[in-house]
Amino acid sequence: MKLIDGKKISEQLLGEIKLSVENRLKNNLKIPHLAAILVGDDGASKTYVNSKIKACKSVGFKSSLYSYKVSISEIELISQIKKVNEDKDIDGFIVQLPLPGHIDQDKILNEVDPYKDVDGFHPNNYGKMTLGVDTFLPATPAGIIELIKRTKIKTEGKKCLVIGRSQIVGRPISILLSQNKTFGNSTVTVAHSRSVDLKKLCLESDIIISAIGIPEFIKGDMIKEGSSIIDVGITRVKDHTSSKGYKIVGDVDLKSVSSKAGFVTPVPGGVGPMTISMLLKNTLRACEIAD
Ligand code: NAD
Repeated sequence: MKLIDGKKISEQLLGEIKLSVENRLKNNLKIPHLAAILVGDDGASKTYVNSKIKACKSVGFKSSLYSYKVSISEIELISQIKKVNEDKDIDGFIVQLPLPGHIDQDKILNEVDPYKDVDGFHPNNYGKMTLGVDTFLPATPAGIIELIKRTKIKTEGKKCLVIGRSQIVGRPISILLSQNKTFGNSTVTVAHSRSVDLKKLCLESDIIISAIGIPEFIKGDMIKEGSSIIDVGITRVKDHTSSKGYKIVGDVDLKSVSSKAGFVTPVPGGVGPMTISMLLKNTLRACEIAD
């Protein structure tokens, strides 16, 4: 089994982005500026936003964080989004999900200017992605594509199982894997909580992309010899030996798949770091489009 080092690949990508920023500076072009909108004080969301801001600094981007109380109304949040849409210095922004229950997530994502929608969640961009038109791809699926490409795992003609059908991971990666492009041409099956005989589906697959959020769900006896396993799952589980009191665990039982899998992404250090670098890549692109 070969571990796919997402951290290393992500660092390469960040290095490439940093170089682009330096070239922009030399040519007196604008420095990319990413903003994040954070509602409430959920610990995991704060951690994700802080990592995105830290990554911005590392490549020389400008970044801004707009934090709002959990009690902010939907109307007020929309008016804040409109301000960010109109701010000419901001090239791209994200609304950190999930939002509190009283706010309609779809309505909010619809308010984001599609040209600043570096998360690729606006229906315009999502529709373009579905049609195979070049656009901002959601960061996690884009990160998975980059990992697969840079590891030279072939997708053409391969049987690929995507487990999970969320709008942010499972659905888009299943669309992208089946598209008729250099990356794609796989025969894709999408499994979900109502799927029957998941083990059989896994055993038939050359590539498994798991995005369910159940710790160590995929075991060695479920996978085909030599298959590639992309673990998107991130779950915090209690760990008294850690100073934080928890550890991050993926959907895949790494120990048990190690003797059978061809390639596996670890958690942490696999898909996670790629998500952030692809977000920055989208922001650089938004800035270039606005030039
Ligand atoms: P989600 O949490 O919205 O939904 C889970 C999906 O898993 C659903 O589609 C459900 O049908 C499916 N599912 C649940 N139990 C199942 C079962 N027993 N068998 C088959 N399918 C089952 O999905 P999400 O937002 O894509 O998140 C999935 C996981 O990926 C979470 O752990 C999340 O934290 C993680 N995630 C990681 C990144 C990253 O950057 N690495 C990004 C986004 C999400």
